Amino acid sequence: MLYNSTENKNEVVSASQAIAQGISKDGGLFVPQELPEYDLETIKSLLPLGYKGIAKKVFSDFLCDFTAEEIEDCVEKAYTSEKFGSENPAPIAYKNYNGNDISVLELWHGPTCAFKDMALQILPHLLTKSLKKTNDGKDAVILVATSGDTGKAALEGFKDVEHTKIIVFYPVDGVSPMQKHQMNTQEGSNVKVCAIEGNFDDAQTGVKKIFTTPGISAQLENNNMMFSSANSINWGRLLPQIVYYIAAYCEMVNDGKISLGDKINVVVPTGNFGNILASYYAFCMGLPVNKFICASNSNNVLTDFINTGVYDKNRQFYTTISPSMDILVSSNLERLLYKLSGDSDTTVKEWMTALKSEGKYEVTPEVKDAVKTSFYGGCCDDNATKATIKKMFDEQGYLCDTHTAVAVAVYDKYVSETGDKTPVLIASTASPYKFSKAVLEAVNNGKNLPDSEFDMVDLLNDITKADIPNPLLSLKNKKSRFSDVIKVNEMPDYVLKALGVK
Ligand SMILES: *Cc1c(COP(=O)(O)O)cnc(C)c1O
Repeated sequence: MLYNSTENKNEVVSASQAIAQGISKDGGLFVPQELPEYDLETIKSLLPLGYKGIAKKVFSDFLCDFTAEEIEDCVEKAYTSEKFGSENPAPIAYKNYNGNDISVLELWHGPTCAFKDMALQILPHLLTKSLKKTNDGKDAVILVATSGDTGKAALEGFKDVEHTKIIVFYPVDGVSPMQKHQMNTQEGSNVKVCAIEGNFDDAQTGVKKIFTTPGISAQLENNNMMFSSANSINWGRLLPQIVYYIAAYCEMVNDGKISLGDKINVVVPTGNFGNILASYYAFCMGLPVNKFICASNSNNVLTDFINTGVYDKNRQFYTTISPSMDILVSSNLERLLYKLSGDSDTTVKEWMTALKSEGKYEVTPEVKDAVKTSFYGGCCDDNATKATIKKMFDEQGYLCDTHTAVAVAVYDKYVSETGDKTPVLIASTASPYKFSKAVLEAVNNGKNLPDSEFDMVDLLNDITKADIPNPLLSLKNKKSRFSDVIKVNEMPDYVLKALGVK
C-alpha cells in the first residue's frame, strides 16, 4: 500500500516515508491510496484476538514495508499492561445516561491519562523503524504544537528514544494546570518544552511554518537532522486510532451488547478531527457504523461546517474547560474532504489555500451532502458540560472528564432530535483528574475549592471515590524543569537554538 499527499496526487510515498516525514513537502497530508476491506468474516476472525492481535492485523494491512517481526515488536512494546494497567488498553464501561444505554470507550488508561497515549506510545517505535528504512542515519526532530494532551503524551513516548529530539510548544494560557505541570516536569535528555504567547492555532501554524520553510530544513540537513511530526497530521498517529474502534466493536460483540454485523453510532469529542477520522476510516474499511457524531465545545466551527458546508474560522476563539478541543483549524478534516471529493487533490488544495488566505471555504453541494449523510455535528458550552458531568455522576456514580462530557451531552441532544437508538460507542478521551477544577465545580455543589491543583485532586477523590491514576499521583512533588515563554515569531529561532545549530 502506498500513500499520497492530499494536495498533490503525484507525491507518492511508502508507509515508512509517510511516517518519517510526517507531512508532505507541499503542505498536504499523507493518505493511503486505498483501504483494506474488512468484511464480516474478517471481523469475525478478529473477535478472539484481543487488542494486540487486532492491532497486529490492522498494522500489517497498512504498513506494507514493515516486516511482521517489526510490527510485532512495535505492538508488544507499546501496549504493555505496565503502561496501560491491564492487558486491554482500551476497556469499555457500560453505562446509562438519561435513559439510554451507552458504551464508554475509556481511552485514557495510558501513562499520561489521555487518549493520545494510544497512538503516542507506539509512534516512536514506528518512527524509529521508519527512519532506519528511509534516511541515512539522520536524527529525527519532533516538533509538537499541543493544546495540552498531545504534548505530554509525545514527550512521554519519545523521552530518551535514540536518534530523536522533541520540542513541544503549548499556548501559555490554553492548557490546564495539571497539563502544564505534566509537561514542565518531563524527564528525558532529549526533550524541551516551551510556552508561546498565543492560542493553539497560533502554535500549530507556527510549527507548520517551521516544517515548510526550506531554509530551516536545509540547516537541519547540514547537521544531520530532519523534522518529523507527532501531531495527528502524521499518519502514524491516525493508524493506531483505527485499531481501537475495530477492537471496541469486537469487544461489544464479545460482551453480547451487539451481534456481529449490527451497526453502531460513534460519538467523538473532537478538536483536530483526528480521532473521529480514524473511526471513519474504520467504517470505510467495513466496520458497521450508522452515524458519526462529532461533538464540539463552544469552538463550534465543525458543527457549523457539518450543517452548512461552509468552514469559517473567522470567529471568536473561546478558552473552555475542555481545552484539548479549543481549536478553530481542524487539520485532519483535509483528509475527509479528500476522500469525500473522490480523491481530488486539486479541489482540496483550492479549499486549503482559501482557508489560509481568507480563513474560509465552502465545499461543493455533493461533498456537503456526503458529509451530512455520515456525520452529525453538535456542540455544548461549559455550563452544559458541567451539568452533564454532574448528572452522569448522580445517576451512575461514574465520573467523566470535561471532553467526554461534551460528547455525552451532544449525544443526548442527538437522540432527542432524531430518536435514533442505534447502540452507541462514546469515546472517552481523558481522566477526570486531568481537569480536576472544572470537574470539581461540576460535582462540588458550589462549595469553595482549594487553591492547589493536588488539593483539588484529593478533594475530588474524597467526593467521588474515583481512583486517581498513578501517573498523576506521582507528579505531586515533582520539580519543574521548563519555564520558557516566547512569542510566536520567535519559534524558528528557538528551535534552531535548542538544536544547537544557531
Ligand atoms: C486531543 C483531545 C481531543 C480531540 O481529539 P482530536 O483527535 O484532536 O479531534 C479530545 N479530548 C481530549 C482529552 C484530547 O486530548
